[in-house]
Amino acid sequence: MTTEQIKASIAPCGLCCETCFAHGDGDIRRYSLKLKEKLGNFHINAKRFETLLGNPIFKKYPDFKEMLDYFASENCKGCRIEQCKLFKECGVRRCHREKQVDFCYRCEDFPCDRTNFDTTLYNGWVMINEKIRKTGLEAYYEKTQTRPRYL
Ligand code: SF4
Ligand code: SF4
Repeated sequence: MTTEQIKASIAPCGLCCETCFAHGDGDIRRYSLKLKEKLGNFHINAKRFETLLGNPIFKKYPDFKEMLDYFASENCKGCRIEQCKLFKECGVRRCHREKQVDFCYRCEDFPCDRTNFDTTLYNGWVMINEKIRKTGLEAYYEKTQTRPRYL
């Protein structure tokens, strides 16, 4: 795996765009589309199953469907291509271009005060970049592909 290939998946801040729920080509969207396809018109049958099985869980199907439709509709192309849809005030995207560094951990100013992240995100950003620096970019990338995106 080359740095260029990894860059298509990992944002300059170190977060993995490819596994983000908002990514149009990510697994979460892909599996949501697949599940929607497999469920078909389940919403028409949900009431029937509620009666047949005597299980009120099926009352919640509309909420589940709404969430599934939402995941299936996401279409972000990733931070290297467009502004992040989740962290709109992110300062890293513009900054890394100005500094001409691929990833924050490679920047001489890391950790800096230019991210605009809140405390939780900032702490995560520092942790991720220190981890990449320690374990190497490729090993970090491999991990993002096998573990859950949201821990
Ligand atoms: S740019 Fe932001 S919203 Fe888009 S995939 Fe990356 S983390 Fe998700
Ligand atoms: S100055 Fe900060 S935000 Fe900008 S590239 Fe360096 S570490 Fe990243």
